[in-house]
Amino acid sequence: MSTAPPATGVVSFEAARHIVEKHAATVSPGDLETVGLLFASGRVLAESIIADRDFPPFPRATRDGYAVRAEDVAEVPARLELIGEIKAGDVSGDSLNVKKSQTVSIMTGAPLPTGTDAVVMVEYTSQTGKSVEIKRSVKSGENFVPRGAEARQGQLLLERGKRLDHAAIALAASVGKSRLQVFRKPRIAVLATGDEIVEVEQTPGPAQIRNSNTYSLAAQIQHAGGEPVRLPIAPDERVRLRALIEEGFESDLLLLAGGVSMGKYDLVEQVLGELKAEFYFTGAQIQPGRPIVFGRCMQSRTGVSDPHQRYFFGLPGNPVSTMVTFELFVRPMIQALSGSKPQALIFLRARLKSDVRAKTGLKRFLPAVLSGEFENAEVELARWQGSGDIAALAGANCYLVIPPDREQMSAGEWVSLLMR
Ligand code: AMP
Ligand code: MG
Repeated sequence: MSTAPPATGVVSFEAARHIVEKHAATVSPGDLETVGLLFASGRVLAESIIADRDFPPFPRATRDGYAVRAEDVAEVPARLELIGEIKAGDVSGDSLNVKKSQTVSIMTGAPLPTGTDAVVMVEYTSQTGKSVEIKRSVKSGENFVPRGAEARQGQLLLERGKRLDHAAIALAASVGKSRLQVFRKPRIAVLATGDEIVEVEQTPGPAQIRNSNTYSLAAQIQHAGGEPVRLPIAPDERVRLRALIEEGFESDLLLLAGGVSMGKYDLVEQVLGELKAEFYFTGAQIQPGRPIVFGRCMQSRTGVSDPHQRYFFGLPGNPVSTMVTFELFVRPMIQALSGSKPQALIFLRARLKSDVRAKTGLKRFLPAVLSGEFENAEVELARWQGSGDIAALAGANCYLVIPPDREQMSAGEWVSLLMR
């Protein structure tokens, strides 16, 4: 059976990204599950985290020194009477009432005693018995954090949809949440295609290529917060390809790799067309990755009246193209399916280390190396042989962005890059 090829639409990088973001905004995450804090990294929060008390819960000294009334030390040197000591964990902050010309020795993390409004660092004092000499003035409010200044009891600290990193996990720990409700990870099916592709465990024939795309995609999916579902390699043959695509639609999202170019055996779009897929774009003006396809298929399920929608990406099979197009376009859909708030694609700027020449017409995302110490980072293109050069990408740490209208960029110029 031959079907009409899908309507084509090659769009700009920005338009393609916006199309994906628009569709990503319409999908919903899966069920909830509960995880312990130690397993929460990278998961997406499905509940709100609220401050269970004021933060800090008491006026907290941020220096070792002496708690004073700032007005007593407006003129220095000043001599104060030592009436006690408070260390972190002491509750005596409330019981000690510091009066005019008195002071209390205090440690970092301890509660400020009543009557004081500043801490003088120990470096600016000298103590002789019960007498403390203050050599430097402080302003009211210096060297402590007032109760509730970081957050008030009841205040929202983390919203549902927050992807948990170490700082968010620390915040959850600080309010006593040892277990967190998170969204189930979306299942992302990965389907590599191509008659020449063999499994990693097999010995390839002279013209055969080992399947690397399934593995790079699985790693990228995990990093983006999804759970990869690996399908067998699909041959360039309609019937088997169709069966595997249908199997892929059992997952929350299907990623195909290969078979989306213009070759005679690039059957992915045709088979998706047979399955009545809608295509939102069938190419982007980028390099590598121009033939990328994005669309959706409605799936009718036996015994269920409402059909469910499944998005798919047809990624070009050249390994570097597969990896770049995932970074540029697939991530927002996985984030949305995982319950995460949409995140902008953020480009950094660095100085170009050596001149670059390029062909105009496509926006390029080329493997590059960012190097240099501290704030003196410089970026240069990795030496590469084109979109099949996995070794070049493995040695790179970012993509250098070359705008479609630039034929030449000079050393020292500020350029955009995407970290990976
Ligand atoms: P295609 O997009 O199917 O035209 O493939 C483009 C190039 O990528 C060809 O040289 C393929 O052999 C190679 N390729 C396709 N799929 C894979 C894969 N899963 N692993 C490694 N290389 C691949
Ligand atoms: Mg192929």
